Amino acid sequence: MRLEGKVAIVSGGASGIGEATSRIFAAEGARVVIADVNDELGSALESDIRNDGGEAAYLNLDVTDEDQWRAVVAETVTRFGKLDIVVNGAGISAPGRPPTEQQTVEGWDAVMDVNAKGVFLGTKHAIAEMRRVGGGSIVNISSIYGNVGSKGGTAYHASKGACRAFSKAAAIQYADEKIRVNSVHPGFVDTPMTEGLHGQPGVREERIGKTPLGRLGVPEDIAYGILYLASDESRFVTGSELVIDGGMTAQ
Ligand code: NAP
Repeated sequence: MRLEGKVAIVSGGASGIGEATSRIFAAEGARVVIADVNDELGSALESDIRNDGGEAAYLNLDVTDEDQWRAVVAETVTRFGKLDIVVNGAGISAPGRPPTEQQTVEGWDAVMDVNAKGVFLGTKHAIAEMRRVGGGSIVNISSIYGNVGSKGGTAYHASKGACRAFSKAAAIQYADEKIRVNSVHPGFVDTPMTEGLHGQPGVREERIGKTPLGRLGVPEDIAYGILYLASDESRFVTGSELVIDGGMTAQ
């Protein structure tokens, strides 16, 4: 029970890495708010966790909307009494992964809105409640694409780089209040987000070939890293970046 007594919000918590995180958090004793735009998956996951004896509530949240963040934080405190952990996991990939000269401003803004502004708002609205309980842990899901370049969409890279640097700056701002902020950098992981890409001829094999541990990640590989950063086991860790990529960026 590594999160016994803790209350957590997991944005993007209904699918993929967020889903695995919600399940593991609940199994480790946390009361979990699954916050997502995917109502069908979110409600089903809430039922699943409850049937397994965990405590969870699904709330609809578009992470780009500040009023909705206010409402979700308030509802979390109403239902579960406090807030200790926020995982900012909601994210989208750049549709079509266009080269920069073909990147539309609308497409750029859409990716930055969810992946960068969503992380900012989730952090912003966690602070007051975490201060009230004397500290907390915010875990922002970036990507190895926040650390290195690739031929993938530059909007996605920019958004994940923003998430990385934002996390370090927020960590410094709130360290004296024991509010820790860290980023997690997954490599290539099989989730609904990457299903289409990993299903294209050759892509899966190419990505496995680039990964020293010789396979793609599964959501639980990432969720266990998030669990460590969310728990008090990482109480001396802030402003750090946890790369979980099978060795991909070590070479
Ligand atoms: P996923 O399975 O698509 O899960 C993301 C969840 O976020 C979905 O339920 C999605 O809903 C939701 N979402 C999208 N826009 C939202 C918004 N505006 N407000 C609230 N929720 C929203 O993706 P994943 O692969 O688990 O990705 C989770 C995080 O890890 C993302 O930040 C992603 O960038 C990052 N990441 C993933 C990989 C990878 O290889 N999979 C690698 C590095 C980093 P819909 O399904 O309805 O859109």
